[in-house]
Amino acid sequence: MVAALVDRHRPTRLVVCLDLDWRPQWRVDLVPTYKTHRLAAAPSFPGEEEVPDDLTPQVDKIMAVLAAAGIATGGAKGFEADDVLGTLATQESVDEVVVVSGDRDLLQLVADEPNPIRVYYVGRGLAKAELYDPAMVAERYGVPADRAGEGYAELATLRGDSSDGLPGVAGVGEKTASTLLLRYGSLDALRRAVDDPASGLAKGMRAKLEAGAEYLDRATPVVRVARDAEVIMSKTDELPATPADEVALKDLGTKYNAENAVARLIAAMAGQQS
Ligand code: MN
Ligand code: MN
Repeated sequence: MVAALVDRHRPTRLVVCLDLDWRPQWRVDLVPTYKTHRLAAAPSFPGEEEVPDDLTPQVDKIMAVLAAAGIATGGAKGFEADDVLGTLATQESVDEVVVVSGDRDLLQLVADEPNPIRVYYVGRGLAKAELYDPAMVAERYGVPADRAGEGYAELATLRGDSSDGLPGVAGVGEKTASTLLLRYGSLDALRRAVDDPASGLAKGMRAKLEAGAEYLDRATPVVRVARDAEVIMSKTDELPATPADEVALKDLGTKYNAENAVARLIAAMAGQQS
């Protein structure tokens, strides 16, 4: 996958972002159901994540391959990979950033200003990957075009997200959330409308949003990715044209029966179409 991404986007810099904590306690303290359904049924340690049996053994191998290739990894203690992506993307001021993720939460990062941030959504596989800019997020999700990234986060907060154990405001689905955000412009403005008897908000909707007010207070910082995590990098993020240790990388390819994948990665880093 990294080889294909390097082929397609020809990045000069690349960071693989890690979950050093997949379910930070500060998020759970705000919304207790956060990712609760993903906790292991029979944990070997408290807070273990239920992950497919074939994934865990791959992680150490992936880390070894990345190190031998010379590809940087970044993580922040107590934060999810989402927060590392949010921090690195929004703190970048030189190069256009492409955030690659299969998690729609990251759509909140799209921006044109001050520095362009695009989100390459790969949740339906690389063959169906889509590159989102703010205009595309606004069009697809029906959020205000002048603040599409923030608008997407607000839409997700109102709507909820069952894959993360976030219930959303009862009675407000994606379509309703979009209608409300387009009408009022932002979640803040919508919430002021709830408190303003003259705002013209329908009675039933006002009641739903009043009932969901505490949830909105709590879920807003849970859904927003951090932009100020203390990211520790394994190395600088320059993507080298040759592997850091080509012999070690090829050995890993042989050891893990991944010779073709390693060869594609080496070719992609060298700028040769594979
Ligand atoms: Mn996420
Ligand atoms: Mn998510």
